[in-house]
Amino acid sequence: MTTLIKEVKQKKHSKQGMLENVMEQFEHAAELVNLNPNIKKILSVTNNELIIHFPVRMDNGDVEIFKGYRVQHNNALGPYKGGLRYHPTIDIDAVKALAMWMTWKTALAGLPYGGAKGGIQMDPKKYSLGELERITRRFTYALGDNIGPEHDIPAPDVNTNAQTMAWIADTYMSTKKPSERSKNQHVVTGKPIGSGGLEGRDRATGYGVFLNIKFWAEQKNVHLKDKTFIVQGFGNVGYWAAHFLEKEGAKLVGVQDVFGTIINKEGLVVENLLDYTKNNEGSIVGFPNSENRDKEDFFGLDCDICIPAALGNQITEEKAHQIKAFLIAEGANGPTTVEAEKLLLERGVAIIPDILCNSGGVIGSYFEWLQNRNGELWELDEIMERLHKKMKEVFLKVLKVSETKKMDMRSAAYVLAIERLERTYIQRGVFP
Ligand code: NAD
Repeated sequence: MTTLIKEVKQKKHSKQGMLENVMEQFEHAAELVNLNPNIKKILSVTNNELIIHFPVRMDNGDVEIFKGYRVQHNNALGPYKGGLRYHPTIDIDAVKALAMWMTWKTALAGLPYGGAKGGIQMDPKKYSLGELERITRRFTYALGDNIGPEHDIPAPDVNTNAQTMAWIADTYMSTKKPSERSKNQHVVTGKPIGSGGLEGRDRATGYGVFLNIKFWAEQKNVHLKDKTFIVQGFGNVGYWAAHFLEKEGAKLVGVQDVFGTIINKEGLVVENLLDYTKNNEGSIVGFPNSENRDKEDFFGLDCDICIPAALGNQITEEKAHQIKAFLIAEGANGPTTVEAEKLLLERGVAIIPDILCNSGGVIGSYFEWLQNRNGELWELDEIMERLHKKMKEVFLKVLKVSETKKMDMRSAAYVLAIERLERTYIQRGVFP
């Protein structure tokens, strides 16, 4: 194998491969809809890419320099929207890919938002809570008016949570004059309840993943009771998806997180596992009555449904051959490579694509944004009902296109998203 081919292969399996994946998916969809070439040019690039180096004082008195990112891909449909990830693999290409996926996701869901993503290249496990707070606040300050409630609205993603969002909102609001502070509360979504957060936003993504599985099963006459499933990532998305699926009667038989892989063919009780991780520094390893497994065996575990809910590019060609599940529900963004997807579809494995499957999060964020903007307080029942209605509507639209146009669900979802963006550009034209 020549060095160049090796390099390209390695790149495809690394985090940079996410950008190639999203571009390939977009190219494919652009061909399917015969996308206007001028609009294709616009959507192929990001509007703004910000890289910020900022200093933070550590607990020991030293100053450390951090690298933060915010990429704004497109805002034709409304303010930029997308999460912030704190992870060592975060770099400009990863953030560009994740920002593009946000544009397709918000367009598909029919929300008045564009797409963005950001984060900090670091391993948050290495820092104290006080340091994380100072890192977050300094990053927010450095972002300045590049974010804003009517301009670009971050949310939680990997290794960020409601607490992170509360620090961002507080910092951002503190930089405004007193009379304008409150009206900037919706600069971020995913905030804690009591600080402008939405009841149920914590579970919105995982609940949406579950709903998509349920809608799919209803359409295919599959009963979820006693079906087995595995989850990669037992964080916000993985836990909540498992919680709702277990309630429906399905059995969690394998979990992988950053610390290890555990299985139990008889079933792992979701709530017990969550309690265990809380007292075990977040790790699933050592959970009573579970067996450890090698990391590489995870996707080949016996199961009916597989939920990747961790990072991108996890289901590669090699893993696609091993998968036993008949359904993959993508909780994570970009978990399946383009090559792996081809193999899986050939093998008859169904895939509910990320831009549909995990869109409950951004839909929940939209509700929170509206609640803050209008000075309202929504109740949990009402929110879950609205989420259900919206997700069903989008799922059925995707399924219909997929069946009538005889294409896989990802292609169908992209077709709907890109056609919406194309219509908007045609109506508005290009300035000047
Ligand atoms: P999180 O930080 O709450 O949880 C991440 C989980 O993934 C943790 O259990 C962690 O241990 C595990 N993990 C990390 N690296 C891993 C690795 N190399 N192998 C196996 N497991 C690993 O993050 P989250 O918010 O649940 O996000 C998970 C995925 O869902 C991401 O791809 C994110 O972009 C996507 N997503 C999240 C939201 C949201 O609302 N939080 C919305 C849409 C999509």
